[in-house]
Amino acid sequence: MEEDNSILVDIQLLSRSITLEQGTSNESEEKDDGCFKPPPAKKACLATTSTAEDEKSKLEVRLGGILCCAVCLDLPRMSVFQCTNGHLMCAGCFNHLLADCRIKDNTPTCPNCRVELSRSACTRNLAVEKAVSELPAECTHCGRNFPRNMLENHEASFCLERPTPCQYNVLGCDWKGPHREAAAHEADCKQRSLSASEILPFLRSEAEKAETEKSKFSNFMNLLSYEKITFNDVQMRPFRTEEFNHNLYYETTRFSAFGCLFSINMRLNDDRRDTHLTNDRYLSYQLVLRGKPSPPRFLVHFSIVRGPYGGMKVLPNVAQHEFTETLTESSWNLLPLVDSAECNRLLANRNIDFRIVMSQQPVSSL
Ligand SMILES: [Zn+2]
Ligand SMILES: [Zn+2]
Ligand SMILES: [Zn+2]
Ligand SMILES: [Zn+2]
Repeated sequence: MEEDNSILVDIQLLSRSITLEQGTSNESEEKDDGCFKPPPAKKACLATTSTAEDEKSKLEVRLGGILCCAVCLDLPRMSVFQCTNGHLMCAGCFNHLLADCRIKDNTPTCPNCRVELSRSACTRNLAVEKAVSELPAECTHCGRNFPRNMLENHEASFCLERPTPCQYNVLGCDWKGPHREAAAHEADCKQRSLSASEILPFLRSEAEKAETEKSKFSNFMNLLSYEKITFNDVQMRPFRTEEFNHNLYYETTRFSAFGCLFSINMRLNDDRRDTHLTNDRYLSYQLVLRGKPSPPRFLVHFSIVRGPYGGMKVLPNVAQHEFTETLTESSWNLLPLVDSAECNRLLANRNIDFRIVMSQQPVSSL
C-alpha cells in the first residue's frame, strides 16, 4: 500500500512538473490527498492550462503513434526489434512474422518498407524500449494511469482492484474478487467452518493432481538410473515436403547411441495445411532408428530437454518405444513447450537446438 501511494505521488509530481513547464501552475494551492486528479476547475478558465493538458496528452498520443509496433500497432511491453530502415516491431510480432514466413516458405519482409528481415539483420532498439516504458498506460483492474515500467508491479502487487483468491482456496473455497474485498470475505468464509470430513474429498482430488505432476519428474529420474544411458545435443534443420503445398518439417542429422544410429523427425501441427492461419501452434517429434536394431529388440526411453544451446522452454516429458527390425520409428510425441509463443520463437530461428536423453533396455531383461 505504501509503495502504491508513492507511485501515485510520483505521477502527481510528474503531472505538476509538466504543468509548471508550461508556466501555468500555482503549486501552493494544490493539496496532496494521494489522488491523481486533473488540475482544479478554476485553473481551467486560463486558456493556457487546458492547452497544456491537451498538449501533454497529445504528446503521449503522438509518441505512442510513433513508437508502436508496425504489425499490431500496440506499444510493446517487452523487446522491440527494428528493420535495417528503423521500422519497429514488438518481439511477439517479429517472431510470429518470421515463423509465418518459415511455414509458408516466403522471405520475411518488413511490413512498412519490404526490406528483408532476419534475426541477424534486425537489431533491438533499447532507446525505444526505454522510452515506451516511460509512457503512461492504464491499469487493467482499476483504470488509473501509471508509467509502463511501474504498471506490472502495480497490477501484480499493489492494485486494490486486482483479482485475488480467498486464502482458504487450499481448503476448496473458489471465491475470487477484488483485493479490497478479500479480507471481508475471508473473515466470513464458509470454508472456515467446515469439518475435516467435509473438506476431505477436495483435498484428495488436489493430492491426485499433485501426484500426476510428481510422476512426470519421477519418470525422468527413473530414466537416469538405467544401466545404458546417453545424451546427444542435436540440431533440427528445416526441410520441405515434395508435395504441392511444401509442408515444413524438421530433421536432425544421424547421431549415434548404444552402437546404433538414430535421427529425430519433427512436424508442426501434425502436418495440418492451415498451420499458417492458426495461432495455436505445436510441434511433435519421433525418434527413428537408422539401420538394424542391435540387440534385435530393445526398449528406449527418451526425453527432450533444453540443451546448452538454443534455450528451448520445454516441460518434463518421457516417451518410450520398443525398436525391432520392422518397428524403427517411434509414434509421434507432443513436444510439451510452455506455450504457442515459444513454438513461434523456435520457428523464427532457423534451426532448433535441444538435448535428447536416451536410455536403453534389452527386451529380454524386462
Ligand atoms: Zn506487435
Ligand atoms: Zn522497414
Ligand atoms: Zn490498478
Ligand atoms: Zn473463501
